[in-house]
Amino acid sequence: MNIDPNTRKNAVYSLFLVIFLVGIWWYRDYKSKENLNPKVEITGETMGTTYKVKYLHEDNVNHKAGIDSLLLKFNQSLSTYIQDSEISRFNAGTILKYESDFFYPVLKKSHEIYKKTGGAFNPTVGPLVNAWGFGPENSEVPSAFVVDSLLQFVNFDSLYFDSISICKLKKGIKLDFSALAKGYGVDVVAQYLLSKGISNMMVEIGGEVYCHGRNEDAKMWKIGIENPNAKEGGERLQAAVKLDGKALATSGNYNNYYEKDGKKYSHTIDPKTGSPVQHSLLSASIFAKDCMTADAYATACMVMGLEKAKALIEKNKSLDAYLVYSDEKGNIQTYTTEGIRNYISD
Ligand code: AMP
Ligand code: MG
Repeated sequence: MNIDPNTRKNAVYSLFLVIFLVGIWWYRDYKSKENLNPKVEITGETMGTTYKVKYLHEDNVNHKAGIDSLLLKFNQSLSTYIQDSEISRFNAGTILKYESDFFYPVLKKSHEIYKKTGGAFNPTVGPLVNAWGFGPENSEVPSAFVVDSLLQFVNFDSLYFDSISICKLKKGIKLDFSALAKGYGVDVVAQYLLSKGISNMMVEIGGEVYCHGRNEDAKMWKIGIENPNAKEGGERLQAAVKLDGKALATSGNYNNYYEKDGKKYSHTIDPKTGSPVQHSLLSASIFAKDCMTADAYATACMVMGLEKAKALIEKNKSLDAYLVYSDEKGNIQTYTTEGIRNYISD
Protein backbone atom coordinates (compact mmCIF):
# COMPACT_ATOMS: atom_id res chain seq x y z
CA MET A 1 0.00 0.00 0.00
CA ASN A 2 1.33 3.44 -0.94
CA ILE A 3 1.08 6.05 1.77
CA ASP A 4 1.49 9.65 0.88
CA PRO A 5 4.79 10.92 2.50
CA ASN A 6 2.96 13.94 3.95
CA THR A 7 0.36 11.72 5.62
CA ARG A 8 3.15 9.56 7.03
CA LYS A 9 4.95 12.65 8.36
CA ASN A 10 1.77 13.90 10.02
CA ALA A 11 1.16 10.50 11.61
CA VAL A 12 4.70 10.42 13.02
CA TYR A 13 4.32 13.99 14.35
CA SER A 14 0.99 13.09 15.95
CA LEU A 15 2.51 10.01 17.55
CA PHE A 16 5.38 12.06 18.98
CA LEU A 17 2.95 14.67 20.24
CA VAL A 18 0.86 12.02 22.01
CA ILE A 19 3.98 10.42 23.55
CA PHE A 20 5.18 13.86 24.63
CA LEU A 21 1.86 14.78 26.25
CA VAL A 22 1.56 11.41 28.01
CA GLY A 23 5.14 11.91 29.25
CA ILE A 24 4.30 15.32 30.70
CA TRP A 25 1.13 13.93 32.35
CA TRP A 26 3.06 10.99 33.80
CA TYR A 27 5.87 13.24 35.08
CA ARG A 28 3.45 15.68 36.74
CA ASP A 29 1.48 12.81 38.29
CA TYR A 30 4.72 11.27 39.56
CA LYS A 31 5.94 14.62 40.96
CA SER A 32 2.63 15.39 42.67
CA LYS A 33 2.74 12.00 44.40
CA GLU A 34 6.41 12.43 45.27
CA ASN A 35 5.59 15.70 47.05
CA LEU A 36 2.89 14.07 49.16
CA ASN A 37 3.59 12.99 52.69
CA PRO A 38 3.13 9.44 53.93
CA LYS A 39 -0.34 8.37 55.06
CA VAL A 40 -1.31 7.88 58.70
CA GLU A 41 -4.37 5.76 59.45
CA ILE A 42 -6.12 5.78 62.83
CA THR A 43 -9.17 3.87 63.96
CA GLY A 44 -11.05 3.84 67.25
CA GLU A 45 -14.41 3.81 68.96
CA THR A 46 -16.69 6.64 69.97
CA MET A 47 -20.40 7.46 70.30
CA GLY A 48 -21.36 3.78 70.26
CA THR A 49 -19.74 3.35 66.84
CA THR A 50 -16.32 3.39 65.18
CA TYR A 51 -14.24 6.17 63.74
CA LYS A 52 -11.59 6.21 61.03
CA VAL A 53 -9.14 9.01 60.31
CA LYS A 54 -6.65 9.10 57.44
CA TYR A 55 -4.25 11.94 56.75
CA LEU A 56 -0.93 12.69 55.11
CA HIS A 57 1.85 13.85 57.39
CA GLU A 58 5.51 14.47 56.61
CA ASP A 59 6.80 12.99 59.88
CA ASN A 60 4.18 10.27 60.10
CA VAL A 61 3.04 11.71 63.45
CA ASN A 62 0.18 9.70 64.96
CA HIS A 63 -2.49 11.88 66.59
CA LYS A 64 -4.61 9.04 68.04
CA ALA A 65 -4.04 10.04 71.67
CA GLY A 66 -5.07 13.64 70.96
CA ILE A 67 -8.14 12.57 68.97
CA ASP A 68 -9.26 10.07 71.62
CA SER A 69 -8.96 12.56 74.44
CA LEU A 70 -10.85 15.16 72.39
CA LEU A 71 -13.66 12.68 71.70
CA LEU A 72 -13.82 11.71 75.38
CA LYS A 73 -14.37 15.37 76.30
CA PHE A 74 -16.91 15.63 73.50
CA ASN A 75 -18.92 12.67 74.83
CA GLN A 76 -18.64 13.90 78.39
CA SER A 77 -20.46 16.97 77.14
CA LEU A 78 -23.02 15.68 74.62
CA SER A 79 -23.71 11.99 75.23
CA THR A 80 -27.11 11.13 76.70
CA TYR A 81 -25.66 7.65 77.34
CA ILE A 82 -23.34 9.08 80.02
CA GLN A 83 -25.29 9.77 83.19
CA ASP A 84 -23.20 12.69 84.44
CA SER A 85 -22.51 14.26 81.03
CA GLU A 86 -23.27 17.95 80.57
CA ILE A 87 -26.41 17.17 78.53
CA SER A 88 -27.67 14.47 80.94
CA ARG A 89 -27.35 16.86 83.87
CA PHE A 90 -29.24 19.53 81.95
CA ASN A 91 -31.92 16.99 81.03
CA ALA A 92 -32.33 16.09 84.70
CA GLY A 93 -32.40 19.73 85.85
CA THR A 94 -33.65 23.06 84.55
CA ILE A 95 -30.70 25.33 83.86
CA LEU A 96 -27.17 24.96 82.51
CA LYS A 97 -24.28 27.38 82.22
CA TYR A 98 -22.23 25.79 79.42
CA GLU A 99 -19.17 24.01 80.76
CA SER A 100 -17.65 22.87 77.47
CA ASP A 101 -17.12 24.61 74.13
CA PHE A 102 -19.30 21.97 72.47
CA PHE A 103 -22.77 22.65 73.85
CA TYR A 104 -23.59 26.08 72.41
CA PRO A 105 -22.52 25.42 68.76
CA VAL A 106 -24.60 22.22 68.53
CA LEU A 107 -27.58 23.88 70.21
CA LYS A 108 -27.35 26.91 67.88
CA LYS A 109 -27.10 24.68 64.78
CA SER A 110 -30.06 22.59 66.00
CA HIS A 111 -32.15 25.69 66.42
CA GLU A 112 -31.20 26.96 62.96
CA ILE A 113 -32.26 23.69 61.34
CA TYR A 114 -35.37 23.39 63.50
CA LYS A 115 -36.45 26.75 62.04
CA LYS A 116 -35.45 25.91 58.46
CA THR A 117 -37.32 22.59 58.50
CA GLY A 118 -40.52 23.93 60.04
CA GLY A 119 -39.85 21.87 63.17
CA ALA A 120 -39.25 18.53 61.41
CA PHE A 121 -35.78 18.54 62.94
CA ASN A 122 -36.29 18.83 66.68
CA PRO A 123 -33.72 17.80 69.32
CA THR A 124 -36.38 17.79 72.06
CA VAL A 125 -37.81 14.62 70.50
CA GLY A 126 -35.56 12.54 72.82
CA PRO A 127 -38.28 11.25 75.22
CA LEU A 128 -40.13 9.76 72.24
CA VAL A 129 -36.92 8.32 70.78
CA ASN A 130 -36.53 6.57 74.14
CA ALA A 131 -40.15 5.46 74.32
CA TRP A 132 -39.86 3.82 70.88
CA GLY A 133 -36.75 1.97 72.05
CA PHE A 134 -34.03 3.90 70.21
CA GLY A 135 -32.41 5.72 73.12
CA PRO A 136 -30.54 4.79 76.28
CA GLU A 137 -33.70 3.21 77.78
CA ASN A 138 -35.06 -0.16 76.65
CA SER A 139 -38.63 -0.21 75.38
CA GLU A 140 -40.71 -1.04 72.30
CA VAL A 141 -43.89 0.28 70.63
CA PRO A 142 -45.43 2.56 73.28
CA SER A 143 -49.20 2.90 73.60
CA ALA A 144 -50.98 5.86 71.98
CA PHE A 145 -51.52 7.24 75.49
CA VAL A 146 -47.78 7.23 76.24
CA VAL A 147 -47.00 8.86 72.87
CA ASP A 148 -49.57 11.59 73.50
CA SER A 149 -48.36 12.25 77.02
CA LEU A 150 -44.75 12.55 75.82
CA LEU A 151 -45.61 14.85 72.90
CA GLN A 152 -46.13 17.74 75.33
CA PHE A 153 -42.37 17.63 76.01
CA VAL A 154 -41.42 17.91 72.32
CA ASN A 155 -41.13 21.66 72.34
CA PHE A 156 -37.97 23.51 71.33
CA ASP A 157 -39.67 26.87 71.92
CA SER A 158 -39.89 26.05 75.62
CA LEU A 159 -36.13 26.39 75.88
CA TYR A 160 -34.48 29.76 76.31
CA PHE A 161 -30.78 29.97 75.47
CA ASP A 162 -28.00 32.41 74.64
CA SER A 163 -24.23 31.98 74.18
CA ILE A 164 -23.67 31.43 77.91
CA SER A 165 -26.52 29.35 79.24
CA ILE A 166 -29.78 27.54 78.58
CA CYS A 167 -32.87 27.11 80.72
CA LYS A 168 -36.22 25.33 80.47
CA LEU A 169 -39.40 27.40 80.40
CA LYS A 170 -41.31 24.17 80.91
CA LYS A 171 -40.30 21.31 83.19
CA GLY A 172 -39.54 17.94 81.62
CA ILE A 173 -38.08 19.10 78.28
CA LYS A 174 -34.97 17.13 77.31
CA LEU A 175 -32.35 17.51 74.61
CA ASP A 176 -30.97 14.80 72.33
CA PHE A 177 -28.30 15.76 69.81
CA SER A 178 -27.86 12.25 68.37
CA ALA A 179 -29.04 13.43 64.96
CA LEU A 180 -26.07 15.74 64.49
CA ALA A 181 -23.51 14.78 67.17
CA LYS A 182 -21.52 12.41 64.95
CA GLY A 183 -21.27 15.05 62.25
CA TYR A 184 -20.21 17.62 64.81
CA GLY A 185 -17.61 15.19 66.16
CA VAL A 186 -16.22 14.85 62.62
CA ASP A 187 -15.89 18.65 62.38
CA VAL A 188 -14.19 18.85 65.78
CA VAL A 189 -11.61 16.19 64.79
CA ALA A 190 -11.05 17.82 61.38
CA GLN A 191 -10.47 21.20 63.08
CA TYR A 192 -8.03 19.56 65.47
CA LEU A 193 -6.03 18.08 62.57
CA LEU A 194 -6.11 21.40 60.73
CA SER A 195 -4.67 23.07 63.86
CA LYS A 196 -1.80 20.56 63.63
CA GLY A 197 -1.03 21.76 60.10
CA ILE A 198 -2.70 18.79 58.39
CA SER A 199 -4.82 19.60 55.34
CA ASN A 200 -4.95 16.33 53.39
CA MET A 201 -7.40 14.32 55.48
CA MET A 202 -10.44 12.07 55.67
CA VAL A 203 -12.35 11.96 58.98
CA GLU A 204 -15.23 9.54 59.46
CA ILE A 205 -17.40 8.75 62.50
CA GLY A 206 -20.11 6.11 62.09
CA GLY A 207 -20.49 6.85 58.38
CA GLU A 208 -20.52 10.67 58.61
CA VAL A 209 -17.45 12.02 56.86
CA TYR A 210 -15.41 15.08 55.95
CA CYS A 211 -12.62 15.13 53.36
CA HIS A 212 -10.08 17.78 52.52
CA GLY A 213 -7.22 17.90 50.05
CA ARG A 214 -5.86 14.74 48.43
CA ASN A 215 -5.30 11.11 49.35
CA GLU A 216 -2.01 9.19 49.15
CA ASP A 217 -2.45 8.77 45.38
CA ALA A 218 -2.77 12.53 44.92
CA LYS A 219 -6.43 12.01 44.04
CA MET A 220 -9.62 13.30 45.66
CA TRP A 221 -10.82 11.14 48.56
CA LYS A 222 -13.47 8.69 47.38
CA ILE A 223 -16.24 7.66 49.79
CA GLY A 224 -18.80 4.89 49.43
CA ILE A 225 -22.52 5.49 50.00
CA GLU A 226 -24.30 2.46 51.47
CA ASN A 227 -27.05 0.68 49.61
CA PRO A 228 -30.13 1.13 51.84
CA ASN A 229 -31.69 -1.95 50.28
CA ALA A 230 -28.66 -4.24 50.52
CA LYS A 231 -29.52 -7.92 50.85
CA GLU A 232 -27.36 -10.40 52.70
CA GLY A 233 -24.30 -11.06 50.52
CA GLY A 234 -25.52 -8.49 47.96
CA GLU A 235 -24.02 -5.20 46.81
CA ARG A 236 -23.18 -3.20 49.93
CA LEU A 237 -22.50 0.08 48.17
CA GLN A 238 -25.05 2.15 46.31
CA ALA A 239 -22.60 4.70 44.91
CA ALA A 240 -19.22 6.35 45.44
CA VAL A 241 -18.47 10.05 45.64
CA LYS A 242 -15.33 12.18 45.44
CA LEU A 243 -14.98 14.89 48.07
CA ASP A 244 -12.66 17.82 48.73
CA GLY A 245 -13.49 20.45 51.36
CA LYS A 246 -16.90 18.86 51.75
CA ALA A 247 -18.79 16.76 54.27
CA LEU A 248 -21.19 13.91 53.62
CA ALA A 249 -23.72 12.49 56.08
CA THR A 250 -26.23 9.75 55.41
CA SER A 251 -29.42 8.90 57.29
CA GLY A 252 -31.44 5.86 56.42
CA ASN A 253 -34.31 3.77 57.67
CA TYR A 254 -32.06 0.71 57.33
CA ASN A 255 -29.46 1.25 60.01
CA ASN A 256 -31.51 1.40 63.20
CA TYR A 257 -34.92 -0.27 63.15
CA TYR A 258 -36.88 -3.22 64.45
CA GLU A 259 -39.87 -5.18 63.21
CA LYS A 260 -42.88 -6.02 65.34
CA ASP A 261 -46.06 -7.74 64.16
CA GLY A 262 -44.92 -7.35 60.55
CA LYS A 263 -44.40 -3.59 60.88
CA LYS A 264 -41.06 -1.83 60.59
CA TYR A 265 -40.18 0.89 63.10
CA SER A 266 -37.17 3.12 62.40
CA HIS A 267 -35.40 5.58 64.67
CA THR A 268 -36.58 8.74 62.86
CA ILE A 269 -39.44 10.28 64.78
CA ASP A 270 -41.94 12.75 63.34
CA PRO A 271 -42.18 15.42 66.08
CA LYS A 272 -45.76 16.18 65.01
CA THR A 273 -47.14 12.66 65.43
CA GLY A 274 -44.61 11.37 67.97
CA SER A 275 -44.18 8.16 65.94
CA PRO A 276 -41.52 6.74 63.63
CA VAL A 277 -41.90 7.97 60.05
CA GLN A 278 -43.08 5.69 57.23
CA HIS A 279 -41.82 7.01 53.90
CA SER A 280 -40.72 5.88 50.45
CA LEU A 281 -37.41 7.67 51.11
CA LEU A 282 -34.90 4.98 52.04
CA SER A 283 -31.81 7.08 52.60
CA ALA A 284 -30.72 10.69 52.41
CA SER A 285 -27.08 11.56 51.79
CA ILE A 286 -26.48 15.25 52.29
CA PHE A 287 -23.39 17.23 51.28
CA ALA A 288 -22.44 20.47 53.03
CA LYS A 289 -19.36 22.51 53.92
CA ASP A 290 -19.38 21.08 57.45
CA CYS A 291 -20.48 17.69 58.71
CA MET A 292 -22.73 18.89 61.54
CA THR A 293 -24.94 20.68 58.98
CA ALA A 294 -24.92 17.67 56.64
CA ASP A 295 -25.82 15.31 59.51
CA ALA A 296 -28.71 17.44 60.76
CA TYR A 297 -30.18 17.90 57.28
CA ALA A 298 -29.81 14.19 56.50
CA THR A 299 -31.98 13.36 59.53
CA ALA A 300 -34.39 16.20 58.69
CA CYS A 301 -34.85 14.81 55.14
CA MET A 302 -35.73 11.40 56.55
CA VAL A 303 -38.35 13.04 58.79
CA MET A 304 -39.83 15.04 55.91
CA GLY A 305 -39.99 12.36 53.20
CA LEU A 306 -39.03 12.54 49.54
CA GLU A 307 -40.97 15.50 48.14
CA LYS A 308 -40.48 17.84 51.08
CA ALA A 309 -36.81 16.83 51.31
CA LYS A 310 -36.30 17.69 47.62
CA ALA A 311 -37.95 21.09 48.12
CA LEU A 312 -35.83 21.76 51.21
CA ILE A 313 -32.57 20.95 49.41
CA GLU A 314 -33.49 22.87 46.28
CA LYS A 315 -34.20 25.95 48.41
CA ASN A 316 -30.87 25.72 50.23
CA LYS A 317 -28.15 26.30 47.63
CA SER A 318 -25.30 25.47 50.02
CA LEU A 319 -26.51 21.85 50.19
CA ASP A 320 -26.40 18.93 47.78
CA ALA A 321 -28.23 15.64 48.07
CA TYR A 322 -28.28 12.06 46.87
CA LEU A 323 -31.61 10.51 47.81
CA VAL A 324 -32.52 6.86 47.41
CA TYR A 325 -36.21 5.99 47.38
CA SER A 326 -38.61 3.35 46.18
CA ASP A 327 -41.22 4.35 43.57
CA GLU A 328 -44.88 3.30 43.39
CA LYS A 329 -43.88 0.01 41.80
CA GLY A 330 -41.35 -0.69 44.52
CA ASN A 331 -38.36 -0.05 42.23
CA ILE A 332 -35.33 1.73 43.63
CA GLN A 333 -34.77 5.22 42.25
CA THR A 334 -32.26 7.95 43.01
CA TYR A 335 -32.35 11.73 42.97
CA THR A 336 -29.08 13.68 42.69
CA THR A 337 -28.67 17.46 42.80
CA GLU A 338 -26.70 19.20 40.07
CA GLY A 339 -23.83 20.33 42.33
CA ILE A 340 -22.71 16.79 43.19
CA ARG A 341 -23.67 14.93 39.99
CA ASN A 342 -20.20 15.02 38.41
CA TYR A 343 -18.58 13.64 41.56
CA ILE A 344 -20.86 10.62 42.01
CA SER A 345 -20.51 7.29 40.29
CA ASP A 346 -23.39 4.81 40.68
P1 AMP B 1 -29.27 10.09 62.21
O1 AMP B 1 -28.77 8.69 62.18
O2 AMP B 1 -28.20 11.13 62.08
O3 AMP B 1 -30.38 10.33 61.23
O4 AMP B 1 -29.87 10.34 63.65
C1 AMP B 1 -30.93 9.56 64.14
C2 AMP B 1 -31.20 9.96 65.56
O5 AMP B 1 -31.76 11.26 65.61
C3 AMP B 1 -32.24 9.09 66.24
O6 AMP B 1 -31.67 7.93 66.79
C4 AMP B 1 -32.78 10.02 67.31
O7 AMP B 1 -31.94 10.01 68.46
C5 AMP B 1 -32.68 11.38 66.67
N1 AMP B 1 -33.96 11.82 66.08
C6 AMP B 1 -35.01 11.08 65.67
N2 AMP B 1 -35.97 11.85 65.14
C7 AMP B 1 -35.50 13.12 65.21
C8 AMP B 1 -36.05 14.40 64.83
N3 AMP B 1 -37.25 14.52 64.26
N4 AMP B 1 -35.29 15.50 65.05
C9 AMP B 1 -34.07 15.41 65.62
N5 AMP B 1 -33.51 14.24 66.01
C10 AMP B 1 -34.22 13.12 65.79
MG1 MG C 1 -28.13 12.96 61.19
